[in-house]
This record gives sequence, C-alpha cells and structure tokens, in this order.
Amino acid sequence: MTADTPITQDVLTIPRKLPDAKKVNIVGLTRDGLRDALLAAGTPEKQVKMRVGQIWQWVYQWGVRDFHAMTNLSKAYRAELDDKFEIALPEIVSKQLSADGTRKYLVKIAGGHEVEVVYIPETDRGTLCISSQVGCTLTCSFCHTGTQKLVRNLTAGEIIGQVMLARDDLDEWPEPGTGTGENGPRLLSNIVLMGMGEPLYNFDNVRDAMKIAMDGEGIALSRRRITLSTSGVVPEIAKTAEEIGCLLAVSFHATTDEVRDKLVPINKRFNITTLLDALREYPRLSNSERITFEYVMLKDVNDSDADARRLVKLIQGIPAKINLIPFNEWPGSPYQRSDWSRIEAFADIIYKAGYASPIRTPRGEDIMAACGQLKSATERERKSRAQIEAEAGL
Ligand code: SAH
Ligand code: SF4
Repeated sequence: MTADTPITQDVLTIPRKLPDAKKVNIVGLTRDGLRDALLAAGTPEKQVKMRVGQIWQWVYQWGVRDFHAMTNLSKAYRAELDDKFEIALPEIVSKQLSADGTRKYLVKIAGGHEVEVVYIPETDRGTLCISSQVGCTLTCSFCHTGTQKLVRNLTAGEIIGQVMLARDDLDEWPEPGTGTGENGPRLLSNIVLMGMGEPLYNFDNVRDAMKIAMDGEGIALSRRRITLSTSGVVPEIAKTAEEIGCLLAVSFHATTDEVRDKLVPINKRFNITTLLDALREYPRLSNSERITFEYVMLKDVNDSDADARRLVKLIQGIPAKINLIPFNEWPGSPYQRSDWSRIEAFADIIYKAGYASPIRTPRGEDIMAACGQLKSATERERKSRAQIEAEAGL
C-alpha cells in the first residue's frame, strides 16, 4: 500500500493487536477473574490456585505494586507477570486536609475524569467515603453531585483502588510477611459508599470491589464495616443483601411521596411504600441488624414535627437508625439548612419513639468534603441554577 492509498472504513475497523497492547491490570479482578487471567497468560492449571493466593496476598494484604518484589515467586515467573500484567491504581491529583483532620483526595481515573474520596478520622474508627461513579444519573435536587452532567461507572479496580490509595497515604499496609493488621486499631477501619454516584447503578463493579475489600486474605474488612448508601434502587436491594451482604443506608429524606418526588426523583419510579417493602426484607436477607435511614434536614421542606412523626410511623417494624444530616450548602444550592433547634426537636421525636437519631456533624466543610458537596472542580459543565430550581419544583 502506498502512502496515498485511501484508508477505508474497513481497514480502520479491522481489530489489530498492537505490540504495546495494554497490560492486564490485576487490581479489581476477583479471585476467579485473576485465575482466568493467569491461565490465559500461560500459568499451568496445576499451579494456578496457589499463584492466585500468592499474588493476591502481595497486592491486597501488603500493598505491593512491583512484581519483582514478590519474593516467593520464581524470578522467571515474576518477569513473566511483569511482562503481561500491571498493578495500577488511579492517581491522586491533590490532597486537602481540613482543620478537623478530614482528608479529601482528588483522584484521576482513566479518560482524565476525576472523583473525590474523603477520609474521616474519628476516635474509635476511620471511615473512607468512596465514589462509585463520576457524577450521577439521578438528580436529587439538594445534591451537588446530581448537578454534574457527565457520568461514567467506575471499574471495580477504580473503586477498590480508592481504598488502596488511602491506605498508601495513611501508610497502613502491614509489613510483607506479617498479618492483616487485625490486632491493632486500624486508621482505615470502615468504608462507606456515600461519595459520588449511585452504587446500585453500578452493581457488578461495586460488588466485585467490595468482595475484594472483605476478602480475609487481603484488606480484610468485615462486611459490617462497609455501608452502601442508595437513593432507593428497589430492584437491586435484595441482590445487595445476597451478593454483598454489607450494611445498607437509604437516602430517605422525606415522609410523603409528594415531597420525596421532588427531593429524590427516583421516588417517582419506586415510591415510599415500595421502598419500605424492600427495606423490610433486607435485615433478614443480609443477616444484619439494622438499616440506616439518612435524612437531610432542609429548612421548611421536610423538617416539621409532623414529618418526624410520620417518619417514625412509616419505618415501624424495621430495625433502624436515623441519621440526621444537616444540609450542606454548595454554590447555587436551592435549599437552606434547618435551624439547629429544629434539628434537635426533630431528633428528639424520633429518639423518644425508640430509634437512635444521631445528628451527623458535618466534617471537612472547609474543604467542601461534607456529604453532598463532592463534585470535582474540573467537571465544568454543570446545570444552571434555573435548571436546578426548575427540576426541584421550586
Ligand atoms: N447516591 C447514594 C450515595 C451518595 S450520597 C445516595 O444517594 O444514597 C450520600 C448521602 O449524602 C446521601 O444520603 C445523600 O442524600 C446525602 N447528601 C447529598 N447531598 C447532600 C447535601 N448537600 N447535604 C447533606 N447531605 C447530602
Ligand atoms: Fe446521586 Fe445520591 Fe446525589 Fe441523589 S443523593 S444525585 S442518588 S449521589
């Protein structure tokens, strides 16, 4: 073919295997996925189970990123792995530290997109709030993430990668050859899927990543230390119990369908009754104790005594804790935070009805790391204030 030969569409669509075709990333593969990948790369069937275990331990128990450091594998095998695989994480672009110790990481994923990850230290635990999507297809009217137009699901590797990056930053990988660190208190002891995105719209990747987080021979967090928050994707709730088994939080936020339709528009598809039916089944299916109801306190919208009483009535029979979240404002947000005395009065009604009703102290507000404020600054295309207000029915 000469230089002037026109390149036709056909030529362009012929699949080519480029010599520098991308290496397979180990991070995010389930045990079965890793097994298949090693087999495909020529690891003998007889050895593969042992190799999966060894590599898994290096990557997820000790945080090693270099195949050459995997000293219980032969040098030749290490070189072979290095040739065909990589251990790649998303990249931390910036890190902000709040006056209260909260850390917010801006993380770059493939394609140049960015997500935010927040680490919240407390006296008895350290919680990492991770993202499951860039943006969110849902448009809850009080949520900053919901104003972001661009959406893509994160891969399992990008989801578990956020946990691994935070452990790097906290310098919390046990020394190679030692245990999982279960003996002492952990800096990163809990995961909440409460960052950007709706985790149940990215079910398979979230499940695979959380399976990795829970695997006893790696990061080894118990399923009771992982909480998945959903806006109420009813068809996936039973599946979450059966296939992940973690704790569940639900963004409830309103006590009538009329108000919830405006705040959490997925309510138009799965209304309060349908949602509560699914939630009633969750503790049994997942063998967990109680469900967290998240309730954002919006001045004069959902914060009356009548709301508190309706809420208690609605959730009757469901083992529950109600987490009251003072609304965190963001530029252009169409709501105001309820007054503190109102939040306390609301909490009191719920508490007297027999439910724990903690008020979530906003953390990391000075670095826009609080609930619902996450939205990477680089994603410039956003909805206008008018559009936000119109969608909220204001
Ligand atoms: N998409 C999932 C998980 C991410 S949101 C969900 O909606 O549950 C995590 C929590 O922060 C949710 O309860 C959400 O409703 C709440 N939230 C969103 N925006 C907020 C804001 N501006 N102030 C306070 N909480 C907010
Ligand atoms: Fe999406 Fe959750 Fe924000 Fe709603 S509250 S827009 S579901 S991230």
